[in-house]
Amino acid sequence: MGPALRLLLLGPPGAGKGTQARKLAERLGVPHVASGELLRQAAADRSPIGLKAKAYMDRGEYVPDEIMIWFISEHLNELGADGFVLDGFPRTIEQAKALDLELDTEQRPLQIVIGLDVPDDEVERRLTGRRTCPSCQRTYHMHYDPPAVDEVCDEDGTKLATRPDDEPETVRRRLQVFHQQTDGLYDYFRERGNLVSVDGCGELDEVSKRIDEAIEAGPR
Ligand code: AMP
Repeated sequence: MGPALRLLLLGPPGAGKGTQARKLAERLGVPHVASGELLRQAAADRSPIGLKAKAYMDRGEYVPDEIMIWFISEHLNELGADGFVLDGFPRTIEQAKALDLELDTEQRPLQIVIGLDVPDDEVERRLTGRRTCPSCQRTYHMHYDPPAVDEVCDEDGTKLATRPDDEPETVRRRLQVFHQQTDGLYDYFRERGNLVSVDGCGELDEVSKRIDEAIEAGPR
């Protein structure tokens, strides 16, 4: 592909954002910036921000905007990359405005926002089958994207775990928070002319193909 792309993957929890963003970043040869993974890593490292964030995450609630904006901005600055695939940030209008301002100033604005559409009942089914590697944070799905060896991470052989926030009650809370706080971002990016919608249902490879086609066609 041509010059480095700057993309955001937007979608409800469990839409397959993490898996698709990781694969897409590999195909494009750019870093994958996943806010949830970075927060879980910070919590595992017991950094002050990580420990603060963990309390919100375990309840299925959003980490406050001022913490998120600072945390991701630091990470993007350290990366200094021309291209990237953002996954999980921004999630609120406040975060989107702060990110836009920062990237515009650095003359590396977001180019495409891919909205992965998956209905709520499908999301609930998916999240309850999800497993995460506690060591490298890679996610799997017991039916849709299983590891080569049952319950063991392909990358580092660690035994997979269920995230506390993938428990059924917390999943419902996360979906509620998503609709309250993130639904508005679709209009925000549609108005900016960045949004392309992609059907997130079906096989992993099918969805990846739709994402590639959507990038090729560009926002409409
Ligand atoms: P994820 O792995 O993307 O599902 O994120 C897991 C959790 O991390 C979320 O449920 C939130 O508690 C927190 N989180 C990740 N990204 C953000 C964000 N941009 N704004 C607020 N909270 C976030």
